[in-house]
Amino acid sequence: MQVISKDQTPTDDQSPNGRRVITGLGASGGIVIGRAFVLDRQYIDVSRKQIQPANIPDETERLHKGVAESIEQLKRLKSQSANVGGAASEELGFLMDAYVHMLTQSRLVRGAEELIKTRNMNAVHAVSEVIDEIANQFSGIDDRYIAARASDIREVGLRLMRCLLGETDRAFETAAKGTILIAEEVSPADMARFQPGQVSAFVTALGGAEGHTAIMARSLGIPAILGAADIIRGISGGDVIIVDGGRGEAILRPTDDDLAHYTQRREDWLAARAKLASLRDVPSATRDGVEIDLHANIELPIELAAALENGATGIGLLRSEFMFMNKDYLPDEDEQYAELADIVTRMEGKPVTIRTLDIGGEKLAVALQAEMGSGPNPALGLRGIRLSLRKPELLEAQMAAILRVSLLGPVRVLIPMVVSVHEMSRARQIYQSVAKRLREQGHAIPDELPPLGAMIEIPAAALTIDALARESDFFAIGTNDLTQYTLAIDRTDDQVAGLYDPLHPSVLRLIRDVIKTSRERNIPISVCGEMAGDPRYTPLFIGFGLRNLSMSSVSLLPVKQRLRRLDTRNSEQQAARVMEQWDSARIAMMLDDFNDLA
Ligand code: PEP
Ligand code: MG
Repeated sequence: MQVISKDQTPTDDQSPNGRRVITGLGASGGIVIGRAFVLDRQYIDVSRKQIQPANIPDETERLHKGVAESIEQLKRLKSQSANVGGAASEELGFLMDAYVHMLTQSRLVRGAEELIKTRNMNAVHAVSEVIDEIANQFSGIDDRYIAARASDIREVGLRLMRCLLGETDRAFETAAKGTILIAEEVSPADMARFQPGQVSAFVTALGGAEGHTAIMARSLGIPAILGAADIIRGISGGDVIIVDGGRGEAILRPTDDDLAHYTQRREDWLAARAKLASLRDVPSATRDGVEIDLHANIELPIELAAALENGATGIGLLRSEFMFMNKDYLPDEDEQYAELADIVTRMEGKPVTIRTLDIGGEKLAVALQAEMGSGPNPALGLRGIRLSLRKPELLEAQMAAILRVSLLGPVRVLIPMVVSVHEMSRARQIYQSVAKRLREQGHAIPDELPPLGAMIEIPAAALTIDALARESDFFAIGTNDLTQYTLAIDRTDDQVAGLYDPLHPSVLRLIRDVIKTSRERNIPISVCGEMAGDPRYTPLFIGFGLRNLSMSSVSLLPVKQRLRRLDTRNSEQQAARVMEQWDSARIAMMLDDFNDLA
């Protein structure tokens, strides 16, 4: 038997069983061995719906939007496939080009347009009809090359139909418990539909390590690899696969040696996690006795149990987007109240910071798609507070629900994507008028309204923090977007993932200065971006004077372990030294050295 040392990764040996090592971005750590469930693209509701003659232009427009989205996806896949290397990269590239061609002024599109126009068919049904027709013609010809074209046209058609149906139509339901999900892309809304224990790990071809899919994977403790383009080649449902989410490495159809090696590594990983559990109830304080609040970020109510198990003393960021995902309607005040009341009650008096809707960018809600359209650059478009002020009834319903749950436990209202003090004053006006309306309706709203605060996640807000202080009761620094917008790096784009650098001195200066100003003005300040959950950065935050961090539940104990070994004076000195540097690689090294000694 081949012996593999602990730190050595077995390499691709082209063995006859088809073993293949696939690499991507390590988005969420952990080791899982299981069977692949390749997202079933066959399950699509193509039933015929008769459309009114007046709606034909809209339906045709829908078709064109679906075609444009499909082409966009294929282009992204093509550029991602360049990273695969070798012949596989070329093969994938050619295939993607051919698929784009099939969607450009092709018989497929023209045929669907015709059916919508002449037979009043809905777009999805029209596409499925044309595909069947073309594929049946191909299948009548006894030639292997032509037969392959028939399956290509079906593949392209399925992609187009998926785009037409939107994100609510993903077929996870049939995946067995403990499955390893393989998909081209997994959206935050898809993850919201995972049943507990159903998906034990996932690997996707697209996606950046700082996007919400990655964040949710970490929060749910599901190992994940994103941006692994090669995963879509030659994998079948039921194949055995090993996922090492920390390293960003998957082994498809592993050998016995691989299985032995990774079974051991998985046991080591589980043992390390179990050891950390003993820290759950010890005080969260530095060596010199300074208490640090460790709160949890929550994307889905299902994560609440893990937050409490890992000793969270509050929720520092409740991303309210979950209430809007996978719904083709907007939840009203009562529905939101019920969902939030459940969370606040289960927190038993611990504080909960509820962020108003931050749909937009990569976080989409079907019911808001019409309003938001698809701007040319969604991360810079109508999202967060911009959308809420454009559609104030959204904010009113959310604020009313939050004000009503404030009777059940301490809550705070957090406004995302703030750039100007006017946005905060407008939000506050709406907040006060909602409170007035609720009182008039007989709700017992507290005299002093729960604090209203701003996310500091856009450089403009960080640079004018003194002005925002006039309208904000607290601040929460969102390092994910702050890094994205400061460095002009799309956090979801795997192509530039290597350039996403939260230790860039520009980002660190903004964070340091926001913390300093907030402390000077006695405004409570926390950090709730992913940086807060990385124990390597804990000394930096403590050294900047931060005393409240909010993170994915899985990070709570590792961060607590780190801060209990720190001394605040030492950390301050280290932070000051770090801030004299201009090179983030050097900063990372300095932090590693400091952490090794602490
Ligand atoms: C952030 O931007 O750091 C943040 C916490 O918000 P989100 O990740 O939800 O955009
Ligand atoms: Mg953000």
